[in-house]
Amino acid sequence: MNRKYAVIIGAGISGLTAARILAEAEYHVTVLEKRSHIGGNVYDYFENGVLVHKYGPHLFHTNMSHIVEFLQRFSEFFPYEHRVLGEVQGKLIPIPFNYKSIDLLYAAGQAQQLKEVLSKAYPCGESVAVMELRGHKDPQVRALAEFVYQNVFYGYTKKQWGKPPQELDGSVMGRVPVRMSYDDRYFTDEFQMMPSLGYTAMLERMADHENIAVRYECDAFLYLKLQEGQVYLDGERFDGPVIYTGCLDELFGCRYGRLPYRSLDFVLERRGITQAQPAVQVNYPNRFSYTRTSEFHLVQQDPVKGRTILVYEYPKECEDGDLPYYPVESEESRNIYQKYRMLAGQIPNLYLAGRLAEYRYYNMDLAIDRAMRLAYEMIKI
Ligand code: UDP
Repeated sequence: MNRKYAVIIGAGISGLTAARILAEAEYHVTVLEKRSHIGGNVYDYFENGVLVHKYGPHLFHTNMSHIVEFLQRFSEFFPYEHRVLGEVQGKLIPIPFNYKSIDLLYAAGQAQQLKEVLSKAYPCGESVAVMELRGHKDPQVRALAEFVYQNVFYGYTKKQWGKPPQELDGSVMGRVPVRMSYDDRYFTDEFQMMPSLGYTAMLERMADHENIAVRYECDAFLYLKLQEGQVYLDGERFDGPVIYTGCLDELFGCRYGRLPYRSLDFVLERRGITQAQPAVQVNYPNRFSYTRTSEFHLVQQDPVKGRTILVYEYPKECEDGDLPYYPVESEESRNIYQKYRMLAGQIPNLYLAGRLAEYRYYNMDLAIDRAMRLAYEMIKI
């Protein structure tokens, strides 16, 4: 029998999902990973028993049961519903902005009146993007929307993206809608859960297959060359599938210019107490140059006592040497992306997967779903 080989660039959640599915279909998969660890930006670790998500909060949620079934093969999970507080006018209120947030910010009579206005405008339970709310025909709805826009979104978004909300793709803020109910959960998906021993342990098990070899600290561009519609690996033509999960501009030497990404700096503060803040995540839309603080140890299944780590997130432009976290989608960046995509399309055995290579603000479940579909397509070929 002919051996089948595949190469995957990037050992993040997209690359490893595809690697596992291909490996189970008898492909010999080599994963080339630039960093010294598994998991890409999903990587987490324990410091003296305290959990840290090295690259920022990763809370798993999905409506796709096939993703849950897939992940449960590699880890046990415990149920966890994420709740976030935001500092608004000196108070910590639930984000997404909901009826509970109104109760906390306004005197009882005014809060009641505002909730009545909203419940006339929208059915109970509806989630509405703040930008839509700002255009509502009822001036009272518009006034509240303006308050939420100014106090919850404007400052946070300027810090996070380096530009005001109106200059961003509407889908970005649509991720955190205003909720017409008392539901103060950050996500409303059917499945909300966390891997019991963390993401790193889960991904290590995913990669633990006799047909998968992960090469760490490996710069794929030293081995991989693209020439006239062909892939060359170590100087030899490679006809098997190549799945690329990195920044697409870099694959083509940035010949059409750099694709814009946002990056982050994380500052860790170690404290000798069990809990530093009242929620896993606190957002600061209106103060400080950091956007949010996270205390991951509060999402641990068995948290240690008397120790915690608070992580501060400082957004920044992604420059040479910085890690890309978020694609900055706009008409202009999408046009540049399409040019790279055309180049990629000329190489029949090159596939793109993940937040960076597809230039999409994917959540983990969508990244996994996309990688699964891709791998199953290849198996069918
Ligand atoms: N956002 C905001 N204020 C908040 C929370 C979110 O303005 O308190 C906006 C901001 O533009 C952010 C976007 O909504 O980038 C998406 O938020 P999400 O929490 O989904 O961001 P992620 O966790 O992916 O960084």
